[in-house]
Amino acid sequence: MSWASKLSKPYRVEHGKKLRLKDHDPADTAKLHSQERAQELLAKSVARMAELQDKLYAQNRWGLLLIFQAMDAAGKDGAIKHVMSGVNPQACQVYSFKTPSAEELDHDYLWRNMKCLPERGRIGIFNRSYYEEVLVVRVHPEILANEKIPAPLVTKNIWENRFQDICSFERYLCRNGFVIRKFFLNVSKKEQKRRFLDRLQQPEKNWKFSVADLHERERWDDYMNAYEEMIANTSTPHAPWFVIPADNKWFTRLAVAAAIVDTLDNLNLAYPKVDPQKRRELQAARKVLLGSSK
Ligand code: ATP
Ligand code: MG
Repeated sequence: MSWASKLSKPYRVEHGKKLRLKDHDPADTAKLHSQERAQELLAKSVARMAELQDKLYAQNRWGLLLIFQAMDAAGKDGAIKHVMSGVNPQACQVYSFKTPSAEELDHDYLWRNMKCLPERGRIGIFNRSYYEEVLVVRVHPEILANEKIPAPLVTKNIWENRFQDICSFERYLCRNGFVIRKFFLNVSKKEQKRRFLDRLQQPEKNWKFSVADLHERERWDDYMNAYEEMIANTSTPHAPWFVIPADNKWFTRLAVAAAIVDTLDNLNLAYPKVDPQKRRELQAARKVLLGSSK
């Protein structure tokens, strides 16, 4: 087993298992105590990711969709920034999903996500996603009421139905060659408080703080219940969730990078083979270049 596989596997949620977030320690660092060692491994995985992405792009068959969900200040933005620091920007796209617009509310909830799916050969990142539809929308019934869904369809089964629809959608993507990996950055309530205070105290971080974040924090337990149910119901073999410890940013970044490297490694990516016709063309082109005077 590769180190990337070994490091990320404990955080992967098995399909069909009951999940208790209480059993997942946000401060876990997989017995890695030296940040320097973690940084070395992160650099190694970023380099490996760049190699693999180059093949993914050249081969132009598979696509990779990475989904990030978390409470505020869990470190989504930082994880995305660090993990993708070595990859070719041309073959990578990031979308952040905010409160839906009036136009978006006039469609089904997957519509806006579908428009942002990565193309083959690329890595697409969703910073928040359609999973908000079973998180913030579940915690705040008034958001659901605003979604204009016909009343007979809003039943007590709505969350169960959404889990099923999301799983079907992801299976469809998977059968088309799009690999999906989902990350829940599991920060503790205590660490969130520390990071909020930091944002309030440091002028250069003030912009990151919103009073709305405090209101969501008040609903912490409701969110944790929603996350538990969501992860247990939508972690599948082809689109698994990873519950990533998020109290130590250096470890979060490493664990996410390891999961991505492991995923790409398992695709057996390779540069496209040159057929005899193409080889003749390349040889002819070489001759022309060598024969030219300048
Ligand atoms: P930051 O880390 O910069 O705060 P953020 O992802 O929290 O980034 P915000 O603009 O603060 O970005 O918040 C986006 C808000 O949009 C979140 O509160 C999220 O719950 C909400 N949101 C996202 N998708 C939906 C949705 N489908 N329905 C309702 N609200 C949504
Ligand atoms: Mg926010």
